[in-house]
Amino acid sequence: MKIAFIGLGNMGGGMAHNLAMASHHVRAFDLSPDALAKARANGCEVFDSVREAVQGVNAVVSMLPNGAIVESVYMNDVLGHAPRGALLIDCSTIDVATARKVQQAAADAGYPMVDAPVSGGITAANQGTLTFMVGGDAKVFGHVEDILLNMGKAVIHAGESGAGQVAKMCNNMLLAIHMIGTCEALALAEKSGLDMRKFHEISSKSTGYNWSLNDYTPAPGVGATSPADNDYQGGFASALMLKDLRLAMAGAQTSGASVPLGEHATKIYEAFVEAGNGGKDFGAIFTTL
Ligand code: NAD
Repeated sequence: MKIAFIGLGNMGGGMAHNLAMASHHVRAFDLSPDALAKARANGCEVFDSVREAVQGVNAVVSMLPNGAIVESVYMNDVLGHAPRGALLIDCSTIDVATARKVQQAAADAGYPMVDAPVSGGITAANQGTLTFMVGGDAKVFGHVEDILLNMGKAVIHAGESGAGQVAKMCNNMLLAIHMIGTCEALALAEKSGLDMRKFHEISSKSTGYNWSLNDYTPAPGVGATSPADNDYQGGFASALMLKDLRLAMAGAQTSGASVPLGEHATKIYEAFVEAGNGGKDFGAIFTTL
């Protein structure tokens, strides 16, 4: 297929590469010349604008920083410029309301569109092992699934328009909460005289089991290898976790859901990022305890 790829950053660069490796003709665009040079080296054809990149394509995939940029790119440069009927797949993590608004505008202009945010970080993007959560019409999902499987290990239809973004904000709010809880339990064990390694051995086989404890242990030298073992470099930046928590808080406000622990987690990451730790892996909350 001819696929336009917009947004070739940390995540999009690897995803576009995987599409090219799967023998798709990838027409790539990013504002950054460095990202474009990398994409060219990875087998993509690069263009000077979104409008040029979407000429004659069967599908458009985007991986952009936020909702305002997604809205502007689709409204100004994709709708009416890509061939009518091309599949539009936005993989960025954005707010539910913007995702639904852009999908409605796309539908009105004759384009089937889905929101398809991902779970899995840069390594998963590079290795093609992302999990996609897709919101949109079931018939459209059938068409986008094959494209997304070139970049991921799982593609799940979450429901109608915006449902992928709902799944993403709920998942990442839960992730923040169990990460903070795991950090607190490890620190409490240590300060109460129980070696953290022993606590990990016990709790990872008990009802305290969770992904942060078992698979991404946030204390250096304890349990699974994680960014904690590399001074919290790499991994999932605290600033990105804060972005996702703020999306969840906005979602809670719109829907009227009560999320007291989500609110508390947001305050904790806000303080951590404001103290200059935005670039550190989100497990570095452990160092504050
Ligand atoms: P990034 O900042 O590395 O990449 C974004 C890219 O978009 C940049 O290269 C930027 O130049 C480009 N861009 C910005 N405005 C543009 C425009 N108008 N036209 C074309 N290109 C434009 O960010 P990232 O880490 O790749 O994240 C991308 C999305 O993926 C975000 O929504 C993020 O929340 C989500 N996400 C990231 C991770 C992660 O671990 N990094 C994990 C899951 C989801």
